[in-house]
Amino acid sequence: MAAEPLHRERRVLTDPAAEPPCSPGPIGTDPAAPAPVRTDPVHPGPPRGAPGADELFTGPAVRPADSPWTLMYHSVDHYTEDPHQVTVTPGRFARQMAWLHSCGLRGVGLGELLRAHAAGRAADLVGLTFDDGYADLTRGVLPVLQRYGFSATAFVVVGRLGGHNVWDEGPRKPLLTADQIFRLHDCGVEIGSHGMYHRSLPGIAAATLAEETGHSRELLRDLLGEPVGGFCYPYGAVDAAAAAAVRDSGYHYGAAIAHGPLTGRWALPRSYVGERDNGLRLRAKRARHRLRGLRVRVDGEDAR
Ligand SMILES: [Zn+2]
Repeated sequence: MAAEPLHRERRVLTDPAAEPPCSPGPIGTDPAAPAPVRTDPVHPGPPRGAPGADELFTGPAVRPADSPWTLMYHSVDHYTEDPHQVTVTPGRFARQMAWLHSCGLRGVGLGELLRAHAAGRAADLVGLTFDDGYADLTRGVLPVLQRYGFSATAFVVVGRLGGHNVWDEGPRKPLLTADQIFRLHDCGVEIGSHGMYHRSLPGIAAATLAEETGHSRELLRDLLGEPVGGFCYPYGAVDAAAAAAVRDSGYHYGAAIAHGPLTGRWALPRSYVGERDNGLRLRAKRARHRLRGLRVRVDGEDAR
């Protein structure tokens, strides 16, 4: 299937009956809640090479020892084979969200999580992220998020919208179309970039790195009509050059997977969540996240 054109006008959905409006309101918002934390720039200055005032960094350094807990999902759907273990069934996902809720945690997107973290208000929050931009986000995920007043971040492969996960061996899964991305965005889901074509970034040529990071951000910004804060490294693979490219492209943060020497704002660790993860296992993963953060060396924290 051909990818949809990227440069086009932001528009309303053509078939409201097929895509019901958000109910009861944008997820993650509470009409009775106090004013949300400010989202305007509070950082003393833009990252090096930032191109414009609208792209100032909005958050703080993130120290490995207290990096906020964030879950990493891919697809939420029924399946018969899943060799890369990227799929969680809708029933299991619903139970996982119910468990978070029962623990007093609220799922939010990474951008919101980092802003709350900066304000010292992230204790009851957990980041929810969905890599690759699978189309099942609108079916298996969104209604459950709305049930609990949760939100999330979806990292989409910008050059493959409306296509399939051709970078993987194994079952082909359809990817979000631009219209579906608009709907998620309208419902409060943060949309971030997962690169242009899901290339692994470490070691690639500078021009390709710039395309995957900066160009994908520009296209996504044109599509959404607003700056894009988040980048997610394909395969979780990040080195210093990739992290610098993400920073210099104007993103606010980079999402990785494992803890390591780069752990911080530009390589945020996340906990993989799979079909086997019940509440007990999630609790253990939360503890492991904290432990690994404490073990990471704190060299260069000021740059995080
Ligand atoms: Zn991916």
